[in-house]
Amino acid sequence: MPRGDHWPNWRERLIAGQQEAPSGCHEWQRSRNNKGYGVIYFDGKLHLAHRAAWLAHYSEWPPEGLVVDHICNNPACVRIEHLRLLTNGDNIRRAYPRGDEKTERRRAQNNEAKARYRARLQMKRGGSNTVV
Ligand SMILES: [Zn+2]
Repeated sequence: MPRGDHWPNWRERLIAGQQEAPSGCHEWQRSRNNKGYGVIYFDGKLHLAHRAAWLAHYSEWPPEGLVVDHICNNPACVRIEHLRLLTNGDNIRRAYPRGDEKTERRRAQNNEAKARYRARLQMKRGGSNTVV
């Protein structure tokens, strides 16, 4: 059985498995779980497709204790611009002492800022160059 690193590149499967919807969402076309979230199998485990999309984009899993939330409320969506990190209130308070929680929050905010920056760059490229 092929497994782990030898499995055909999951990033390629991730890209091949999504399709742009009129809403702008990149909807997962393959397996979904009972909550409507896309799922993809690699490294010997079934992963949520939108979390895999996060990993593919940022090269790291979302910080432990944070959830990847769909801004578009479309659970099948794997478009990185439609995803954000949310603290899972009580969970994070239980999981981290104070300092660590702050660190994780800051990292989440950094990631959000990066995503916003990238989105702005894309807009600039598509639009005029009169931005000061
Ligand atoms: Zn979406």
